[in-house]
Amino acid sequence: MRILVVEDEPTLATQLAEGIQSVGYVVDVAHNGVDGHFMGESEPYDAIVLDIGLPQMDGITVLKKWRAAGRTLPVLILTARDTWREKVAGIDAGADDYLTKPFHMEELLARLRALIRRAGGHASTELVCGPLTLDTRSSRASVDGTALTLTSHEYRVLAYLMHHPGEIVSRAELTEHIYAQDFDRDSNTVEVFIARLRKKLPPGLIETVRGLGYRLNKAQ
Ligand code: CA
Repeated sequence: MRILVVEDEPTLATQLAEGIQSVGYVVDVAHNGVDGHFMGESEPYDAIVLDIGLPQMDGITVLKKWRAAGRTLPVLILTARDTWREKVAGIDAGADDYLTKPFHMEELLARLRALIRRAGGHASTELVCGPLTLDTRSSRASVDGTALTLTSHEYRVLAYLMHHPGEIVSRAELTEHIYAQDFDRDSNTVEVFIARLRKKLPPGLIETVRGLGYRLNKAQ
């Protein structure tokens, strides 16, 4: 899962990036509305945390532009204290949730998890596919109740597939969702992560769909 943070306060931007990374997501950060708008429109994020008070282009305008361009991804807005009008404007502009500054990182992470789950049509915090369970709260995966030991990249690949069970996911799509923007990406490495995951998972759980990509087999 790949998250965009648009926040102009450097300290808060760093805290957000570190907090979100600590639960297994990858994060890109934009420090003004113009960069944030561009990144949100051009990169396939799974969710966006958007500050409303931003230089160059305010968050409400950024959000309206994304929605007008048909970007439907979940957006959580950050508003200043005692600015209920901002919340109303943000929700009317298409925000899915909001938090008022200052907030607890745990609350932001819980809201983010919920937004990502709901965007994928999952109501529960635990995603289940046959013998495989992914607990999105603890960022842990298990098979028949036994915890799997996964590297951060293996976890990201598995988590993305678990959020899209039964769907064909291409190598390019996986690559875009497991690396941050500034990372030197190589879609061949996805094959390596899949091969390692298969050794840790029951046979047949990750199918290769020739020429198209991979699919998590729901029928197991
Ligand atoms: Ca701000």
